[in-house]
Amino acid sequence: MTLLKNLERFFFVPPDNPELIQSQAHGFTRQVPLMYAVLLANAIILSLTHLSAPPILTIVVPAILGAISLWRVARLWFVRDAEISDWQARRLLNRAVPVSAVLGLGFSAWALSLYPYGNAFQQAHVAFYIGITSLGCVYCLMHLRAAALSAAVCSLVPFALFFFMQGNPVLVAMACNLIIVVCALLFVTFLNFRTFAELVASRGEMVRRQDETQHLSDENKRLANIDALTGLPNRRQFDHALGLMLEQAKADGTDIAVARLDIDGFKAVNNIFGHATGDRVLIEMARRVMGLRSPSTFVARLEADVFGLILQGPVSEKRLTDCGELLCSTVREPFVLPGANPHVSASAGFAASRPNDTAEALCDRADYAIFVAKQEARGNAVVFSDRHASDISRVRALEHALHTADLDAEIYILFQPQFDMSQNRTTGYEVLARWRHPVLGEISPVDFIPMAERIGVISKITQTVLRKALAMVAQLPRPLRLSVNLSAHDLVSHTAIEAIVAQVESFGTPCRIDFEITETSVMHDMAQANAALVSLLSLGSRIALDDFGTGHSSLTYVQKLPLDRIKVDRSFVAEVTSDPTSRAIIKTTVDLCRNLGISCVFEGIETEEQLDVLVGLGGKVMQGYLFGRPMSEDMVLQHHARELRGDGIYVPTLLDVAS
Ligand code: C2E
Ligand code: CA
Ligand code: CA
Repeated sequence: MTLLKNLERFFFVPPDNPELIQSQAHGFTRQVPLMYAVLLANAIILSLTHLSAPPILTIVVPAILGAISLWRVARLWFVRDAEISDWQARRLLNRAVPVSAVLGLGFSAWALSLYPYGNAFQQAHVAFYIGITSLGCVYCLMHLRAAALSAAVCSLVPFALFFFMQGNPVLVAMACNLIIVVCALLFVTFLNFRTFAELVASRGEMVRRQDETQHLSDENKRLANIDALTGLPNRRQFDHALGLMLEQAKADGTDIAVARLDIDGFKAVNNIFGHATGDRVLIEMARRVMGLRSPSTFVARLEADVFGLILQGPVSEKRLTDCGELLCSTVREPFVLPGANPHVSASAGFAASRPNDTAEALCDRADYAIFVAKQEARGNAVVFSDRHASDISRVRALEHALHTADLDAEIYILFQPQFDMSQNRTTGYEVLARWRHPVLGEISPVDFIPMAERIGVISKITQTVLRKALAMVAQLPRPLRLSVNLSAHDLVSHTAIEAIVAQVESFGTPCRIDFEITETSVMHDMAQANAALVSLLSLGSRIALDDFGTGHSSLTYVQKLPLDRIKVDRSFVAEVTSDPTSRAIIKTTVDLCRNLGISCVFEGIETEEQLDVLVGLGGKVMQGYLFGRPMSEDMVLQHHARELRGDGIYVPTLLDVAS
């Protein structure tokens, strides 16, 4: 059974190895035309040496055999460079076996038929022709063992029988010689075929491995460029696409636009509804944005809750504004998610490309637009315009000026009184920094303090303010105190705190300088902030938590930090006469401070009505324009002298305006 199977596999090319079949067909179609050429050329030469034989043998039969051979050559030639299917290749090979047998038999029989018409030399030529041609054929058919064997057997068996039957020992010897050589050649051919098959298999394996490696590398590349959560391209792919699209736009003389879409307060969504819901919001966002985009728009997820778009086509301010409004209003639609229906909004910033633009500059403008949107039009879209460009130039000029400022000469301080209603006197002043640039003039702290924090010069400013405050406090009679504002950068930096402590100590302790800190300045690193506050407390300073009520989790800080007082933000004071909620919050804060044994300062009191309500709610320490605007050193001294003269009973000092 196995033998039969093996014989079948030997004579009929099995379909289970397409690579081998294709390689065999490839080699076969290249070598077999040569075999036919040899066969025909040798046949013609043999005919020429036997011209004395009947023409049917010297012309007709070789012509028929030659025609069959030429027809085969033509067919093989036709397919030699064509892509053929596995099935076609197999059919070609399977047909070659009987054809080889028939032609082997045909040419051999024809050559032997000439034998009786020749003399001894011509007969030797017949023997030589059959022998050498058989060897040539076996060699040329090396890619198809069955065909090589068929050709060899069908040409040699009649030849050998014929020579054996002649009874001439020399002819028998010649036949034996030939059989031995052909058998040896067949053996070598079979061995070579095995090596050939192994080579094809290993090449196939190599190609498969290469394909696998390529596939893995393609998959890695895909994953490296895709955001796993939303399936959108990630920042890396966005940057790459932006570079290409910008180049293309420049080449075409067109423009593109970049948009950033940032979810407002996404952290709160995660905190309130959990991260799983946060993820679903992002997936739904991605789906909504993809649903809105035109086919040429590229959408990516750039960061946790930031999406990036690249828009092609017209980039007029009108189109970008419409597009932004559509995006933002789509995000505002309620999210119906399993177990949660969060309401989410997103702000967007758009920027159109300019001639000779770079991807970086374009993204910077879109970033700036979203920054403006977050500040001025939260939940809406802002398109970068010339106004923003001039704002940026102004900010850059200011940043440069601040970097190069002579802080000692340009920074000066004003003082705003803090009035204690229970003692009916001013107990201290808040120190407020001012910057007067020789060319740019007065610049508000609302502008330059955040800028100083951004460009890293805030600690130098704190040092300058503190030095000037220390000089001033020495002139102020006891027990008046000064309160200096600290920024987040001061609190998180060991060097900044050490410098503050060193400066205060150089003036002698216990000192009369207090410090105001904000929640944002402690929230990043509570442990470090606590350590910093402890060093300040050890100087004899008091710590106030500024802008209370504007942060997220004020009570946590009140509980955890070593505070002496809380300063209620002026936004509550402004509404205290009109808004019952503000009143309730203020009442709760007063009670909280009383329970904790710390004092409570109200900021921004501008009217008598506000003061009346605050006093009614239990407020004691007041600060605001009603008690005095930020004033110069001289005015502080005058202000104090007036209080001492007995005008100490609370007097609104709206006229105490700093020059
Ligand atoms: P802040 O610490 O909350 O300072 C109080 C701000 O409210 C001051 O503005 C003050 O002029 C203003 N103000 C006081 N009373 C009233 C009032 O009755 N009505 C109104 N509408 N405003 C009032 P200023 O001086 O412009 O300072 C703004 C912010 O700049 C300060 O807010 C503080 O955060 C920062 N700042 C000022 N000086 C310094 C400083 O030396 N260092 C640091 N790190 N920040 C400072
Ligand atoms: Ca303050
Ligand atoms: Ca404040």
